[in-house]
Amino acid sequence: MIKQLEYSYLTLPNNFYSLAKPDWGVAPKVVLLNDMLAEELGIYLKKSEEYIDFIFNKELEAAPTFAQAYAGHQFGYFTMLGDGRAIMLGEYITPDKKRLDIQIKGAGNTIYSRRGDGKATFKSMLREFLISEAMHYLNIPTSRSLAIIKTGEPVFRETIHEGALLIRIMQSHIRVGTFEFARYFLKTEDLQALLTYVLRRLYPDLEKSENPALSLLQKVMEKQIEVVTHWMRVGFIHGVMNTDNVAISGETFDYGPCAFMNTYNPNTVFSSIDTYGRYAFLNQPKILKWNLVKFAEALLPLIHHNTQRAVHQAQEVIDSFDDLWNEKYYCMMLNKLGIPFYQPSLTKLVDNLLAIMFKNQLDYNNTFLALSQVIPGMDILKLPDLQSWLEQWKYIIDNTVSFLEAQNLMKRNNPVYIPRNHLVEKALEETIHGDETFFKEFLIILKNPYDYSSPQKLFISSPDKHFDNTYQTFCGT
Ligand code: AMP
Ligand code: MG
Repeated sequence: MIKQLEYSYLTLPNNFYSLAKPDWGVAPKVVLLNDMLAEELGIYLKKSEEYIDFIFNKELEAAPTFAQAYAGHQFGYFTMLGDGRAIMLGEYITPDKKRLDIQIKGAGNTIYSRRGDGKATFKSMLREFLISEAMHYLNIPTSRSLAIIKTGEPVFRETIHEGALLIRIMQSHIRVGTFEFARYFLKTEDLQALLTYVLRRLYPDLEKSENPALSLLQKVMEKQIEVVTHWMRVGFIHGVMNTDNVAISGETFDYGPCAFMNTYNPNTVFSSIDTYGRYAFLNQPKILKWNLVKFAEALLPLIHHNTQRAVHQAQEVIDSFDDLWNEKYYCMMLNKLGIPFYQPSLTKLVDNLLAIMFKNQLDYNNTFLALSQVIPGMDILKLPDLQSWLEQWKYIIDNTVSFLEAQNLMKRNNPVYIPRNHLVEKALEETIHGDETFFKEFLIILKNPYDYSSPQKLFISSPDKHFDNTYQTFCGT
């Protein structure tokens, strides 16, 4: 298996990385394994001990494992970063010839660690495992979690935690921040080398385009609009949409302070460090556009050697963001309402529903579930404030599609189950205290989020309001 690892990233100029050896801890033990993912990747082994052999293969000791260099705008401020607690084990080629990064998170310091310890707690790795897998089964592009390995060492945070490693799989960890790093710290040839590499690896169709840098900007914009639209569909708040966490591949990654919204409030923020709500639920599209501007700025020298012309061309792409976002977003929201087409006149139907949800503090996910009228015992539809909206909505459905067709579309777009914060916390707390029963049960539920056949009340109910009002998430724990 290890022989299949490749290192194409190392063909980039050597400023782009720094070789680094993972520290597996004193007594590494695989404690959670993603069997289904292993099978998909063609590395299915019978026993979890065999994965230890796979992951700790002796050949890896000689392999050029490395940390990636990158910069990024964090909360609006530019800074040099790099993989401070992640090490690339290599690129794995799947049986159907897909190239995937295999990365280990929490395996000790790299030259980019700054003041951090390069470690991760068992609890935070469990959180990333659970939520990234939930995202995958919600049909959202995301990094995947292959395994959690306990290190047998303590990690010191506000209290002492068990240390753990996460094996993360992703099409590529190259991010907007990688381009910013090349643009502001390296030479234009290096930036060009990065562009060439990224196109070959992720978007070979663009290699021959008239202006490859501009085409990449356009492509990343489309990919990111697609992924953030999905976030809005399921009430996901990423929490730390810094440019170093925006993947060029369009995958969701960096599951530090993310969380799912229960009660609809466009200003919802859970991250303890997002004091001003920069990354609040409804700010996500605005921030995405801001991040794409930073990407465009980094690409300027490759778009045109004449800066003014480069700015003009990049601006044209950025200027198309609002229309594209509106169309994709409203199309998705209308699908959530069972309406299979987009018309600008229908955007009000969506906005009005959100306003009613906000005013009445309705649960975001459950309002759509109630509308689909598949699950018994949901009384949201009786709400007086909703009655005239319901009439308008039914009128549109009756005059365009049948209710059955609408219902089918709604069932594909509205999950029954999302990883609700109170359940995530229960699953993590019980697991770190030695009982993984609920975690396993929850994971099974989250692997079938669109299963309407036997709704399970425990996993559908939102928590009492007090829970969410005081719930906080943390980065890098
Ligand atoms: P993030 O908020 O996860 O995007 O991380 C921002 C930066 O902090 C990245 O360069 C991370 O690699 C780094 N970082 C986060 N946690 C740690 C840690 N425990 N030790 C070293 N670096 C870290
Ligand atoms: Mg990050």
